[in-house]
Amino acid sequence: MGKIHQLSSVLANQIAAGEVIERPSSIVKELVENALDAHSHRIDVVVTEAGLGSIRVIDDGDGIARSDVPMAFKRHATSKIESARDLFRVQTMGFRGEALPSIASVADVIMTTATKGQEGTAYHIRGGEEKSLKPAIARQGTDILVTELFYNTPARLKYLKSPKTELSHLVDIVNRLALANPDVAISFTHDGREMFRSAGNGRLQQVIAAIDGVNVGRGMIPVHGENPDFRISGYISRPELTRAQRSHITLTINHRYVRSYALTKAIIAGYQSKLMVGRFPLAVINIDLDPVLVDVNVHPAKREVRLSKEDQLASLLEQAVYHSLANQNLIPDAGSQA
Ligand code: ADP
Ligand code: MG
Repeated sequence: MGKIHQLSSVLANQIAAGEVIERPSSIVKELVENALDAHSHRIDVVVTEAGLGSIRVIDDGDGIARSDVPMAFKRHATSKIESARDLFRVQTMGFRGEALPSIASVADVIMTTATKGQEGTAYHIRGGEEKSLKPAIARQGTDILVTELFYNTPARLKYLKSPKTELSHLVDIVNRLALANPDVAISFTHDGREMFRSAGNGRLQQVIAAIDGVNVGRGMIPVHGENPDFRISGYISRPELTRAQRSHITLTINHRYVRSYALTKAIIAGYQSKLMVGRFPLAVINIDLDPVLVDVNVHPAKREVRLSKEDQLASLLEQAVYHSLANQNLIPDAGSQA
């Protein structure tokens, strides 16, 4: 007998979970992204004990047919891409087929789902083991309840921070997802208290107001920029409205929230010398581009992306920020900015 053997699927999923599911907020991110990919108009996130009690995400999207439900929890099982060609033009948030098996490998999961006009299904899976698959009464959409997170991976459980910190990660991700998707109504309720709700009417400024307050929302300045490759749109704060961290800048690429040092720097550069040292603007900016120009398959959680033509995009972004401030006479229009 050789020494080498293939890991069981449960163990393989737990290892993958280490990359995809870091903390309660990662679960919320994955589940809300699944709901978005399923064309939901409304997504409710209901959490107790900063995610250690329970995480529930309810959507009114496409639902999953009963015969597909167990497959949805298999590793590398996805309805979103088929070939390598698709990988280079991903239009959906998900495509790796890792979230559901990862979550189910480290928690107790009950999914209730129904597709249009079909009888619903309730599926129970725990620690990667299927417990039951039954008919259920359900409206079209999907309702996932995750409890006992990391019950079988004590190291992970220990690594979690205080409930206060985990809650702030949860609030942060829900806010970013809502900013990235102003046409979807997203709510967040924690321990019975509604902490956030967006209307889903497509008005980004209203989502900003729901997060940062009506005055901030009202004071934001629109930004636009376009060249044959990129279309930039969003809002930025006036130079006098700043924060101590650059994390109040939300960047989305094709409505996917991403982190990019280079693009964040470009936004800040657009303010020229108008920002005080150590102060950063608020901004919510989406960049629409042909998916072939972006590789989202860099990081399992897809937070980082690789962009072709990043330098061109950065200068377009800087110009766009500069011009909207200059248009409002908030910075001198040097006229020399080409
Ligand atoms: P991925 O999103 O990368 O495809 P997941 O493990 O997150 O992988 O989900 C697996 C599959 O389950 C998805 O491709 C999709 O077909 C289905 N699915 C998951 N969540 C939902 C949902 N909320 N509504 C409809 N279908 C879903
Ligand atoms: Mg997914």
